[in-house]
Amino acid sequence: MNNLNHANVLVVGAGIMGAGIAQVAAQAGHAVLLYDARDGAASQAIEKLKQTLDGLIAKGKLGADVATQTLARIAAVESLHEAADVRLVVEAIVENLSAKRSLFQQLEGIVATDCVLATNTSSISVTAIAHGLLHPGRLVGMHFFNPVPLMKLVEVVSGLQTDPAVALDIFDLSGAWGKVAVHARSTPGFIVNRIARPYYAETLALLQEQAGTPAAIDACLRAAGFRMGPCELMDLIGHDTNFSVTQSVFDANFFDKRYVPSLLQREMIDGGLLGRKSGRGFFDYRVGAVKPAAAAAAPSSAPAAQALCLHGQGPLAERFAAALTLTGISFECMSTSDWIGLAVDGAQLRLTDGRTATQLGADVALFDLPLAAASALAWAPSLRACEAWTEAAPRWLQVLGFSPQRMADAPALVVARTVAMLINEAADAVHQGVCTAEGADAAMKLGVNYPAGPFEWLARWDSAGVVALLDALDAHYRGERYRVSPWLRQRA
Ligand code: NAD
Repeated sequence: MNNLNHANVLVVGAGIMGAGIAQVAAQAGHAVLLYDARDGAASQAIEKLKQTLDGLIAKGKLGADVATQTLARIAAVESLHEAADVRLVVEAIVENLSAKRSLFQQLEGIVATDCVLATNTSSISVTAIAHGLLHPGRLVGMHFFNPVPLMKLVEVVSGLQTDPAVALDIFDLSGAWGKVAVHARSTPGFIVNRIARPYYAETLALLQEQAGTPAAIDACLRAAGFRMGPCELMDLIGHDTNFSVTQSVFDANFFDKRYVPSLLQREMIDGGLLGRKSGRGFFDYRVGAVKPAAAAAAPSSAPAAQALCLHGQGPLAERFAAALTLTGISFECMSTSDWIGLAVDGAQLRLTDGRTATQLGADVALFDLPLAAASALAWAPSLRACEAWTEAAPRWLQVLGFSPQRMADAPALVVARTVAMLINEAADAVHQGVCTAEGADAAMKLGVNYPAGPFEWLARWDSAGVVALLDALDAHYRGERYRVSPWLRQRA
């Protein structure tokens, strides 16, 4: 039986997160007090919640009785002293260490010693917030995602002094509130904001070296199953917000080059291109503007070939064999080959392994990791490829069922490098005891809607292939960004 199942709850901060947390707690049956330092803010938040619930009733998504009961359980208070008998405080005030510290120190003078203190901080060390408390063991991170009523994930963040029993109570309580909780150790970015960094960083790096367009990169990652491409997602989040999370993870890691923020994004912020909210980011959101689409090649028949050979084995090679068989083109199979793809009259069209096409030869074209059903797929020819092969290679990709998106010859193209880096970051998080592999998978699927968790991708790919790809990126760029996680290297 959870200690907090019937706890009276105080939510401090009636902003976007606090109001959502109050709603979720009340819907789960708790009596909730809501406090905000700004006069009238808590009452206004409850009034706004009433309007939201009325809207849900009108749409038939919520029963009127549930809405009435939920609202009846929430009361605004004008002073923290009115909350002396609560058993749980969830803090969602301004993201500022000294403000959070002084709030909790003040609360210790008001609530009972067994009252659990939870912070919804998204970036501040839970260990640091607890510093100076009389009972630091009862302070724990309870990190919800926005919008709170809809997002399933709660990161339960333990600082150095957090009592494991308190973390467990918050873990169980989150489940009772309809959420999926994941334990995290208090480290920069916790789980989601840390592991997600490469999703943005790799695209920003590709754009900086002019390897592709925002529309093409977005199309490739959407085709891999991500709900939004990184460019449209950064435009939605706001480049200033996205940059500041990257900057805080970079600073908190003592300027580890792995997390270095992007010059390109800095320039966009300096120029006021903040994304949707300012009307322009990577894309133009002003009235009448048309969002550019990724290239769509006209349907093409298979180019002429004297000798066609399918290299490699496994699910991808089998998928290619099926596509070639459907066209009626005759081909040989070289299943013992150490690469996957097609050899056409001596030229090669092969799956990226992290090396560039130019490194691999003259008439070589590489294609990206196809993660989902056939669709937009990045490809790049060698700088030394002849014109005829540069023209034929994407037509072969069409034969194999893809919509080819031409990129510059950047190592590991788009999806392969992004997914490898997400796996690498997740592996480091597990290596450092931030979370378990299962926790990382759940967090990324529920916190940022990834189509699979990093360790699920790893199970489908192989550790040696991921490490080889990252090593090739590391050799190409030199620096710390593509440093392989010791956890991953050991498994390879
Ligand atoms: P917000 O600005 O919408 O709300 C903060 C509220 O706290 C305001 O109403 C403000 O008046 C009140 N406040 C400020 N200082 C206070 C104090 N000392 N005592 C009482 N009330 C005080 O902010 P938000 O987006 O709801 O974020 C709140 C917290 O949740 C932050 O720590 C933030 O990092 C975290 N968080 C935010 C998101 C998000 O997407 N917005 C997601 C996860 C976590």
